[in-house]
Amino acid sequence: MRMLHRHSPVPQYICKKIPDINAGSDILSSPVEYLTGISALRGDLLRKELGIFTFKDLLEHFPLRHIDKTKVDKIASLSPVAEYTQVAGKIMSLDIVGEKRGKRLVAQLKDDTGILELVWFQGISWVEKAVQVGQDYLVFGKLGFFNGKAQIAHPDLENFSAQNAGGKAYLEPIYPSTEKLKARALHGKAISKITRELFQKLSEKDLPENLPAAVIEKFKLIRRFDAYKHIHFPASELHYQHALRRLKFEEFFFAQLRIQLIKLDRQRFSRGWIFEKVGDLFNTFYNQYLPFELTGAQKRVLKEIRKDTGTGHQMNRLLQGDVGSGKTMVALLAMLIAADNKNAADEQSFQSVLMAPTEILAQQHFQGISALLKDLPVQVGILTGSSTAKERRQILKSCEDGTMTILIGTHAIIEDKVTFRNLGLAVVDEQHKFGVAQRARLWKKNVIPPHILVMTATPIPRTLALTAYGDLDYSVIDELPPGRKPITTVHRFETARPQVMDFIKEQIAEGRQAYIIYPLIEESSKLDYENLMKGYEEVKSFFPEPAYWISMVHGKQPADQKETNMQRFVTGDTQILVGTTVIEVGVNVPNASVMLIESAEKFGLSQLHQLRGRVGRGAEQSFCVLLTGQKLSQDARERLKIMTSTNDGFKIAEKDLEIRGPGEIEGTRQSGELNFKLADIVYDKAMLEVVREIVEKLIQDDPTLENEAHKPVKDHMQQQKAKTRWGKIA
Ligand code: ADP
Ligand code: MG
Repeated sequence: MRMLHRHSPVPQYICKKIPDINAGSDILSSPVEYLTGISALRGDLLRKELGIFTFKDLLEHFPLRHIDKTKVDKIASLSPVAEYTQVAGKIMSLDIVGEKRGKRLVAQLKDDTGILELVWFQGISWVEKAVQVGQDYLVFGKLGFFNGKAQIAHPDLENFSAQNAGGKAYLEPIYPSTEKLKARALHGKAISKITRELFQKLSEKDLPENLPAAVIEKFKLIRRFDAYKHIHFPASELHYQHALRRLKFEEFFFAQLRIQLIKLDRQRFSRGWIFEKVGDLFNTFYNQYLPFELTGAQKRVLKEIRKDTGTGHQMNRLLQGDVGSGKTMVALLAMLIAADNKNAADEQSFQSVLMAPTEILAQQHFQGISALLKDLPVQVGILTGSSTAKERRQILKSCEDGTMTILIGTHAIIEDKVTFRNLGLAVVDEQHKFGVAQRARLWKKNVIPPHILVMTATPIPRTLALTAYGDLDYSVIDELPPGRKPITTVHRFETARPQVMDFIKEQIAEGRQAYIIYPLIEESSKLDYENLMKGYEEVKSFFPEPAYWISMVHGKQPADQKETNMQRFVTGDTQILVGTTVIEVGVNVPNASVMLIESAEKFGLSQLHQLRGRVGRGAEQSFCVLLTGQKLSQDARERLKIMTSTNDGFKIAEKDLEIRGPGEIEGTRQSGELNFKLADIVYDKAMLEVVREIVEKLIQDDPTLENEAHKPVKDHMQQQKAKTRWGKIA
């Protein structure tokens, strides 16, 4: 077995600049100014430009990649295929060309095969002084081709001496830097130098082991100190790979530990109402009024909710189900269970709220649910921004006196003025439009927070769910109601518009309805509205009255007009709905069988999938037509290909994550849990799964990390908590 805790008896760093307060304490929190050559000015730049305040930050400023300094390309052999290149040659000339904003510094580098142009747009005066004509340089940078000529903009230069040529292969780290830093001589190379110096000051005990010995053993992880060392200065590619693996593992490990501890805390310490039984309301509804048999997935989720609400702890459950999977019914049944139960203190039944992201959707939920519950002794109400003062007063009163059983609405229902006698359950539909803070306001609506069920049809890839939403319990409806025919999706170019319109006519002739959606990139964009209006006129010319009737909905209409137009489509008075993405979420018109998306190349994957989910809700075969211009970017082509090849929302979400990266996925932008430095939830998802299981097991066995074997983990957590970064306390 490998020795895990080898301490060196004497500190290897002796540095008079480090003040007493740091002696024996944590060297990693020393400010970067303690390194040679880092003046206050440069320190400031490192902080501002790269967020490097301390030794630890510098340690975690990982190289982008490494290059083998002994590998030098010949200029004549450079091809546009090679991204980065390293060449060696003599600087033949150095000139400032252009004026004002076009001003740049251009150098000609010559080797024995040809000439390469080097160019700088920034830091010109500094580079001009530093670079000498007639001198040999080793040049590294990203290769570009400009007017057919090879060029490197802002290359890294190094004096080329004999020691570089033909020596032993060594891997030089390439660090991210910025132009401002380069102008102060803090280019990648300088960062490499101070990082090397940092390692001279560090010893094993400064980077103590933080994972349990058994885990290290089982996964053959290298020691933490070695990992840091080799991620910067690997002796070989293999060393680097081992270092990377160890550090990614560690990142996932502590992120998972944090999330799972938060969840555990909530499960153990947050009090919640107990819904102990399933009563008359639920049973009567289930046996007499439920219009269909629940799918297996719906039943399973309902059981999970039953279990959560019986524990005495607050439920915080995220329910994911693809568009059309029947989440609303699950919510309704859960709300009936709430109403079947009473608050022991005053024998008052529990009330529920159902929050929707848009007025249209709230209306639709209200109508659907009222109709289903019309013969049951429950009061269902709706409160939105457009409720009249009188309606509002009545609603508020019945919420307060407890007679309102189910209140449906938009975010208007979380206003402070809305108080409840006994709120027991809050359902949030399409949660990605509701922020965490808004959700938190719900918690305050009763003496003990109500149970919370968050529903979303924007499928969140499992990896994201494990990280960004890992503190919520998580249910999936992974089964569509029976009898649904998969939607047929096709891609057509603008030129095929007449045929597409003819197809819609055929569908309408069979009694179906169609959506025609225009992109609305920006809510306020005039151009987009003009496009929509133009489109509307065009649709009208294809579908003239009185044979056809058309509704139009968009975000600029007054709420009541939007509502009326939408309603005419819902009731079948109009056969075509022309609109923007305001109809995107949740709308349910089972008779609609065509979704035509105009300029489909302008939509993101999850939006396309959402829109497509508006059809295929009835028993008829449905179609989604993606209409685009001829010119398509690579990404757009990729998106269209995915859309036409699968209906599976989870697959699409995974692809979306791959194409856009986690930072761009709606609702997760602020999530600190995704800020991994090395690990990547897409590429390393197998590792993430493994780590999640290890952590789960660990806190199951030892939730307080008391076990001696978990001491390194606990120490690390405590140290992280205690750490206040130098200079960051503004
Ligand atoms: P979403 O999950 O997208 O919110 P909805 O709740 O709007 O889906 O349900 C979509 C449609 O499927 C609705 O018309 C609903 O009545 C119907 N539905 C839901 N559950 C079932 C089921 N078990 N069997 C048949 N139809 C169902
Ligand atoms: Mg829905």
